[in-house]
Amino acid sequence: MAKILCVLYPDPQAGYPPKYIRDLQPSLKGPYAEELLSLPEKIRPSEAVVKHENEIYEAFLKEQKNQLLGCVSGKLGLEKWCKDNGHELIVVSDKDGKDSDFDKYLPEADVFITQPFWPAYLTKERIQKAKNLKIAITAGIGSDHVDLKAAAEAGISVVEATGSNSISVAEHIVMMALSLVRNYLPAHALARNGVWNIADCVSRSYDLANMRFGAVGSGRIGYAVLKRMKAFGCELHYTQRHRLPEAVEKELGLTFHKTPEEMAPHMDIISAHIPLYPQTRNLFNEAFFAKVNHGTYFINCARGELVDMDALKKAQEEGKIAAYAGDVWFPQPAPADHPWRTMPFNGMTPHMSGTSLSAQARYISITHEMLKNFLAGKPIPEDYYIVKGDQLSGTGAQSYKL
Ligand code: NAD
Repeated sequence: MAKILCVLYPDPQAGYPPKYIRDLQPSLKGPYAEELLSLPEKIRPSEAVVKHENEIYEAFLKEQKNQLLGCVSGKLGLEKWCKDNGHELIVVSDKDGKDSDFDKYLPEADVFITQPFWPAYLTKERIQKAKNLKIAITAGIGSDHVDLKAAAEAGISVVEATGSNSISVAEHIVMMALSLVRNYLPAHALARNGVWNIADCVSRSYDLANMRFGAVGSGRIGYAVLKRMKAFGCELHYTQRHRLPEAVEKELGLTFHKTPEEMAPHMDIISAHIPLYPQTRNLFNEAFFAKVNHGTYFINCARGELVDMDALKKAQEEGKIAAYAGDVWFPQPAPADHPWRTMPFNGMTPHMSGTSLSAQARYISITHEMLKNFLAGKPIPEDYYIVKGDQLSGTGAQSYKL
């Protein structure tokens, strides 16, 4: 019997379950699989993995239907399976401060599962107290809430549902690019408030077509974003740790830049899609913003700590940044007085892009699979690994540094 500790986001304010607006989930089987298999070589999953993911995803949809499972009462859909198989499932939401429920149950847990949207920070100090912990599963993508170095030193595996919600995030980023450039949110606010002043709506509104779009990171999310931005007629640029194959660059008409600083002065829109690790923390700092053009749009749905909070605020006040949008903050949940909440013309959302109901079905089905395989002593696909044994492995070795 294993003790499985899940730290999940709180239920909807109006209670659980919510009133669902649709009966069914659209099946993501076809297009999602095709898109995963069309990824550039180094980040393309094997056909066998995609086929298997589709099978477990379809089976999951039949059983769990269209449900909110990422919150406390949803229990990641694990309650019945744990009961039937004799595992103890502990689900909490209280995760910060020394006396949190997370701290209370962690020392006994064999397995820890959390989602980046409501990250339970598995720090070095917590790892030292988690004597039974063997695996940290990220239900989603992005495992920076775990101190990866400390996990590797303690021999705790870290895995995530690689590729599971990359298209969900890419769609959110495209939505943000459109809404910032076209001035959608302020114009909508005027409409809601009974105002009909066209000049106020359009004095900050442009077309996306022909704008220069720069991706910082072109992994699974960045690549999906670039593909979608091509459809809007943007001029596409990117910077990335591992340069993409020439054929891919040609197909999308991509211009490669060695560093974000080198790319910045040539862009109208910059969007970040890289993981957070020690070398990328505060990558977007005062020196970076000094390089951007006056009036650049900036989007970050990767991680809040990639950006120096005050440097961004200053760049926006100076007009270097025309408008900022993203769904990632630090810490999460963000304090009520976080300056990004009230910056003029911002298009921020709470961290939600990767946990749409569509995304949940995919990353939760993969999470179940990883958990079941781990407890049965079966292998977990290499792509899902961030840390294995005492080192980075799989996606971890490709995308992170210790
Ligand atoms: P990925 O591993 O497929 O791609 C990341 C890419 O970043 C890799 O190709 C790597 O080469 C590149 N990279 C790493 N460090 C770099 C650097 N310093 N400069 C340039 N390129 C660098 O990951 P992904 O699925 O595309 O996700 C990217 C990140 O997005 C995740 O790590 C996570 O933090 C975040 N994310 C956010 C959400 C959300 O809901 N907002 C959901 C999923 C992922």
